[in-house]
Amino acid sequence: MSFDVHVHPWTRDFMKKNGPIMKACDFFKLDVDKLPGSTEQILEEMEASGVARAVILGQDTSATRNPAFRNYTLRNDEIAAMAAGSKDRLVPFAGVDPNAGSGAVKELKRAVRELGMRGLKIHSSANSVYINDRKLMFPIYEYCQEAGIPVLLHTGTTGLGDTEIRYSKPELVDEVCTAFPDLKVVMAHFGWPWPEVTLAIALRSPNVFIDVSGWKPRYIPQSVMPYLNGILQDRFLFGTDYPMLRHKEWMDDFKASLEPKLKPGVSEKLLSGNAKRLFA
Ligand SMILES: [Zn+2]
Repeated sequence: MSFDVHVHPWTRDFMKKNGPIMKACDFFKLDVDKLPGSTEQILEEMEASGVARAVILGQDTSATRNPAFRNYTLRNDEIAAMAAGSKDRLVPFAGVDPNAGSGAVKELKRAVRELGMRGLKIHSSANSVYINDRKLMFPIYEYCQEAGIPVLLHTGTTGLGDTEIRYSKPELVDEVCTAFPDLKVVMAHFGWPWPEVTLAIALRSPNVFIDVSGWKPRYIPQSVMPYLNGILQDRFLFGTDYPMLRHKEWMDDFKASLEPKLKPGVSEKLLSGNAKRLFA
């Protein structure tokens, strides 16, 4: 049974009030009327595609100056409540806004200790903060390392409108891994268009994982394949980026295009084994 590490618990109504997300829908060529009407739909769609568990991602732009992200925050209490009703099928990741400074660390501590959040998600481009910002990001990483929770970082380009890629370049993760060698980091979307940089960082840093979300499996770059099938086979994680890609779409494409190319055992590691190790 598979474990999706990258799900946004968004509904159509939430998406419609966020210009940057609607621009992402254009980017992914999504029909707005087919977007999820409720958060319960996540569990239904997972069930129908044999996906046993999923990480649901928080997001917080409450202290970010970019006005396009005014309606973008999903409160940690909401994320925790969704997970609480899911019989452990949904694994909650907190969102905090690094621009809040010490308030971000305080909220993260509350989310972990009081709400039982199991990790953190940061989308640096949405927050207009560099991944390697020593003042705003490093105190957050320090707490994650100490608490033993993974941080999932958006890396590479983004479909989100009204943002800049420069904050999320995968090369910035190298400095983080050097400063926090015990921190578990997930580099989302293999950092495209810099997948080789992402691979190099994972080769240097044993606690780096790479999620393949946001891409139909058939489009995973050729340069990534030998690593997925070889030396980094213990580090790749299945993710959809729901609702930008839906579970059935991803799984059908995986079975038709990618699974036949994987060496024995690699499919199981990608779909669930590595995610279990992420939380070990
Ligand atoms: Zn995403």
